[in-house]
Amino acid sequence: MPEEGLQWNSRNDLLSFEEIIRLLSILHGLGIRKVRFTGGEPFVRKDFMHLLRTVFKMKLFDEVTLTSNGVLLQPHLAELKELGIAGVNLSLDSLDEARFFQITRRPEFETVLSALHALMAAEIPTKINAVVMAGKNEADIAAFCAFTKDHNVAVRFIEEMPFNGGSSSASSFLETDNKPASSAAWHWKAILAEIQRHHPQLERLNDGPTSTSMNYRIANHAGSVGIIAAYSRTFCGTCNRLRITPKGALQTCLYAGEGLSLRDLLRTQSDSTVAQALKQAVSHRAKDGFEAAHTQPRTSMAEIGG
Ligand code: SF4
Repeated sequence: MPEEGLQWNSRNDLLSFEEIIRLLSILHGLGIRKVRFTGGEPFVRKDFMHLLRTVFKMKLFDEVTLTSNGVLLQPHLAELKELGIAGVNLSLDSLDEARFFQITRRPEFETVLSALHALMAAEIPTKINAVVMAGKNEADIAAFCAFTKDHNVAVRFIEEMPFNGGSSSASSFLETDNKPASSAAWHWKAILAEIQRHHPQLERLNDGPTSTSMNYRIANHAGSVGIIAAYSRTFCGTCNRLRITPKGALQTCLYAGEGLSLRDLLRTQSDSTVAQALKQAVSHRAKDGFEAAHTQPRTSMAEIGG
């Protein structure tokens, strides 16, 4: 979350429970088979578990996953497991309490760590998303690598993006000729070099067909490590993701601003008109994150969801 905080949306601005369910049915009709609910913390929404139960009951999706910052997650783990959650991504930038506090400005380290251990104990496939921020958590690259020795989790180190509320100001990410500026210090190659400095024996794993991460296993470690080149944008060619903000805006790329208002369409139009508008928006999506970045200004990651 940006240091200056976020402007909270009024309830009527947000998609209602019924609108989300309707939208999910429309998306299923268009061929979408996987859905991820993201935060911050999706559980801040009071009806979130009710929403999840309903989604599982609909039996429309092959895979339902979620991304959480771990603050409100743990009390729901048993039910999530029972419902059949396919995996949880935990946003956790540091394994050190002081650094965690410096980054999040919340005294929730113990809560999040406890949620992480509970996820592993429940054998829910777990990925840790850690944004590498210059001057804040470089030491956590080694710490997270060590963590995978005895814990079967996938840690993904993420290049910082100019809009994720981390260490760098947007101006330090200015681009020339569509190339990431060198001031984005923790470029994926630097992250890889740092991992290799501690663990020269890295086995390259097979990334799935639409994977966003380059994945590795450190010799004799139970878990794996990966790198997401979110700023260098090396994986746009296989990106097939759509994002819908809490206010119902469609984002066809992380770097694009808010696009089509699905909320406004849902409130005034038929399902088939919404479906048609979705198809059209997707067919006009930018070819990659560089092109998207030049289309519209965009908002904080905390407002979109991770
Ligand atoms: S197209 Fe956009 S969202 Fe997809 S991988 Fe590239 S930068 Fe990320």
